[in-house]
Amino acid sequence: MNNPVKIIQQDVLNLAKYSGNTKPRKSISASMLDDDMLKIYFRVKFGIIDNQTFTQDNTLGSIFQLGIDHLADERDTLEARVRREIPYKDSGWILSAETDIIDYENKTICDFKLTKEYTYKNFNQNHSYAWQVRLQDYIFRKTNLIKNDYKLYLYMLFKDIRQNESFLKPIEQIVEVEKYEDDVIEEKIDEIIYVIESWLEDESKIEVCKDLWWRKSKNGNSYPSKCEKYCSYKSICKFYNSHSKTPVMKNEGLGW
Ligand code: SF4
Repeated sequence: MNNPVKIIQQDVLNLAKYSGNTKPRKSISASMLDDDMLKIYFRVKFGIIDNQTFTQDNTLGSIFQLGIDHLADERDTLEARVRREIPYKDSGWILSAETDIIDYENKTICDFKLTKEYTYKNFNQNHSYAWQVRLQDYIFRKTNLIKNDYKLYLYMLFKDIRQNESFLKPIEQIVEVEKYEDDVIEEKIDEIIYVIESWLEDESKIEVCKDLWWRKSKNGNSYPSKCEKYCSYKSICKFYNSHSKTPVMKNEGLGW
């Protein structure tokens, strides 16, 4: 029989799991703006494959998400996991977004990020996190959920502060995201669609993800930690080879 605590742990992950459309389709979600083009391509072609493993990120993120859900249940002016989608112009693509919480009373959209202090220190308004919230705001406005007077925030919770540091250092930071004009947001979306459409037409153009976060394992071998830990497409990605010191960089006909 399975350990009952493990079952509870799995249930926590399942409760916080993404519950939107996971089927293959021409869609770009706000959360994809954090991804490499190749991952976006895989999502379009094969649908969303959830990375449901007990990593620190998934488990802490899920616990945090359930806390937010509970808070929104308690207060009428808050709504958690707000999801909307719209057809994007006449492109045949869908734009979708899910934000962690909207505060209708204080006209605020806030997305929570379990991240590293390094990310906060190096954050700028061109960071993918900022673009995610911008796209959420864009979609929520286009669906008439909110007007153009909402403020956008990121709540960054650091997962890498050690216990002996946590009395001295803040373990979280709140960052305001600058709003951009719609044509700037649309330019970014158009760029992504252009690349993915060209890859769908001609697979030989597909490029491997840019930075695979190479790390050394205890036995001294290097491994691409982005693929190993954070990518649910490695079983189908022809660039990925866990036994090689470098990923297979050559696009050999692929057949994806
Ligand atoms: S397995 Fe690695 S190279 Fe392939 S999509 Fe995932 S992160 Fe990118």
